[in-house]
Amino acid sequence: MPELPEVDLVTRTLERFVKRKTIGDACLLRQRLAPDSSPAKFRNSLKDATVTSVTRRGKHILIDLDNGRTLIVHLRMSGRFSLLDADDVDPKFTHAVLYFTDNTRLTFDDQRHFGLMKIVRTNEVASAKEIIKLAPEPFSEEFTAEYLIAELKRTNRVLKEFLLDQTKVTGLGNIYAAEAMFAAGIHPAVRTNKLSKPRTVRLFAHIVEVLRSQIELSKIGEPDPKNIDGRYFADNVDRQWLVYDREGQPCVNCNSPIVRLKQSGRSTYFCKVCQRR
Ligand SMILES: [Zn+2]
Repeated sequence: MPELPEVDLVTRTLERFVKRKTIGDACLLRQRLAPDSSPAKFRNSLKDATVTSVTRRGKHILIDLDNGRTLIVHLRMSGRFSLLDADDVDPKFTHAVLYFTDNTRLTFDDQRHFGLMKIVRTNEVASAKEIIKLAPEPFSEEFTAEYLIAELKRTNRVLKEFLLDQTKVTGLGNIYAAEAMFAAGIHPAVRTNKLSKPRTVRLFAHIVEVLRSQIELSKIGEPDPKNIDGRYFADNVDRQWLVYDREGQPCVNCNSPIVRLKQSGRSTYFCKVCQRR
C-alpha cells in the first residue's frame, strides 16, 4: 500500500500536470470504484469542470473543481493515474477516465480493485466520513508530542497497531511505523499506556523525521505523467531501510539479527536488543 510520501508525490504530480485542465467528459468504467455514484452521476458531476487544485488529507487525494465539487481518491493497494495522449492505449484495469478538453485524458487503473473515489461538495470535504475521523496531519501544528502522549495514554493497545490507525496518527504505514519505532528504540508490541513521556517524545520526533525525509527523497527525479504511481517514486533513489524487510540481516546498531513479528496479520521488523518494551 502506498504510504504518505508516495501519496504526497502523486498529489504533487497531479497538481503539476492536471491543474487548470477542463474535463470535457468523464467515464466510470467500474461502478464499485465510486460506490456512491452511478456512471451518469459521475459524468454529470465532473463534466465541464476545471481542476483548480490537487491537495491531500492523509492518504486521500482531493481534486478540487471549479463547480464547487471535489473528487476524493484513495489509491489503496494498487491505484494509479496516467495522463495520456490521444494515441496512447488505456492501461489494463482502467476503471475511470477523465477526458480533458485539450485531448489528453487521465486514467485511473487499479489491478487489485481496492481503490475508491467519491465526489462531494468542496465545502463539505472536511466533514466527509473518510476525512472527519483522520488524525492531525503529521506536519501540522496540531500534531505535537503532547497530542501523542495524550492519545497513547488513552488506550492500552499494541503500539504498532496504534501507529497504523489513521484516526490516531495520519500517514504512517507498515514501513515507516517499523522504521520510526526502531529509530526511537521502542519495541513494537509495547502497550501504548506503558510508554513513558521521554520515550514518546523521542518516538514523535522520529515519526515526523521519517515522513519528512521520505517526502524529500520523493522529490528527487522527474515525475512521469504517463505513470503517476507513488509506489515506484524512488527508482533512482536507493532507499535503505534500517529494519523493514531485513529479517535475519544484522542490526545496523548491534549486529543482532533483525526479527520478524506478525501483528494483526502484517509483518513487523525489529531488533530485540535495541528496541525495549
Ligand atoms: Zn540492534
